[in-house]
Amino acid sequence: MALDWQADAGRYQTMPYRRCGKSGLKLPPIALGLWQNFGGIDAPETGRLVLRRAFDRGITHFDLANNYGPPPGSAEELFGRVMAQDLRPYRDELIVSTKAGYPMWPGPYGENGSRKYLLASLDQSLRRMGLDYVDIFYSHRPDPETPLEETMGALAQAVRCGKALYAGLSNYPPETTRRAAAILRELGTPCLIHQPRYSMLDRTAEGGLLDTLEESGIGCIVFSPLAQGLLSAKYLEGVPQGSRASRGTTSLKPERVTPELQARLRALNELAKGRGQSLAQLALSWVLRDPRVTTALIGARDVAQLDDSLAALAAGTLTADEIAAIEPHLPAPGSAV
Ligand code: NDP
Repeated sequence: MALDWQADAGRYQTMPYRRCGKSGLKLPPIALGLWQNFGGIDAPETGRLVLRRAFDRGITHFDLANNYGPPPGSAEELFGRVMAQDLRPYRDELIVSTKAGYPMWPGPYGENGSRKYLLASLDQSLRRMGLDYVDIFYSHRPDPETPLEETMGALAQAVRCGKALYAGLSNYPPETTRRAAAILRELGTPCLIHQPRYSMLDRTAEGGLLDTLEESGIGCIVFSPLAQGLLSAKYLEGVPQGSRASRGTTSLKPERVTPELQARLRALNELAKGRGQSLAQLALSWVLRDPRVTTALIGARDVAQLDDSLAALAAGTLTADEIAAIEPHLPAPGSAV
C-alpha cells in the first residue's frame, strides 16, 4: 500500500452535511462506526481501506468507544494507526468520537458513570488513538447508581480541559436526557448530540426521545440503522455464512431471523426494488426521512458495503406515499420487533 496516500480532492462536492441540533457543527448524513469489523480479530488492511474510502467520500465523522473491538480497545488502536499512517494531515477535517460506560477494566472504577471511570477512560482512549482531543465524548449509557450531576460534571470537565470539544449522551431515555441536558447547559457545556438505536425494526426513539431532542436543540445520530445488517437482502433466505448473525460476536443471533421477520424483510425489499434501491439503502433513506435525525451511523465490513450504503444519499428522499406504503411492514411507532 502506498505510504503517500492523499484524500480525494473532490470529497466535499456531494455530501449534504446536516446541522447537528442547534449547534454550530455540521455532520454527514451517513457516518461510520467502528464497533465491529475494526477490532483485533479483523483484517487491519480492510479496516484501513474502509476508513480511507469513507473520508474520500465525504464521511468526516468516525465513531468509536473505549470497548470497541473485540478485544476491547482494539478498534481505537486500529484507528490510531490509520490516523498516524493516513489521516493525520486531515485532523481538523475530522469529527472523532469516543465513549465510556460499558465494562472496560476490572474493579469498581472500570465501568458505568463515575467521574473516576469516565476521565480515566478518556485518557486511555486518547492514548490508544494517538490524539490530543476527541471531538465528542459520550456517556455511553445511563448509570442509575451515580448522581447524574457527577456523570455530567465529568463530561463538562472533559470539555473544559480541552480533551473533548463536545459532550454527548447515548442510550439515555427521554426523561433522563432532559435532566442531563439541563445540567450540561448549566455547566456551560451543552449536550451536542444523542446516540440512540433506531431503524425500521426498532422505533423506540419515536416514543418521546426524538421529541425531547428537538425541544432541547440536541442533534441525533442513530446507531444500527440497518439493524446490524438484518435490513439488507442477505437474510431473506436464511443466515449466510460469514454474516454478523452467523459470527456470534454481538447480540445479533441466528434465532433472530424468524419466518415472521423474513416476511417483513421481503415486503420491504420489494418496496426498495420499486425505488431502484437495495434494502440497506431503503433502510437508510427511511431513518433520514426524519429531520430530527442528523446522521445514520453505519457499520461496514468492506468497501463494497460502504459504497452500497452511501448510494442511499443519491436517491430522492422518501415521498409521503412511499412512507405510507412502508408503514404496515414496521412495528408501531415507539416499539420494536
Ligand atoms: P448497521 O446497522 O449499519 O450494521 C452494520 C452491518 O450491516 C455490517 O457490519 C454488515 O454486516 C451489514 N451491512 C452494512 N452495510 C451493508 C450493505 N450495504 N449491504 C448489506 N449488508 C450491510 O450498524 P452497526 O450495528 O454496525 O452499528 C453502527 C455503529 O453504531 C457502530 O459501529 C457504533 O459506532 C454505533 N453503535 C453504538 C451503540 C451504542 O450503544 N451507542 C451500539 C451499537 C452501535 P455483515 O457483516 O453481516 O455483512
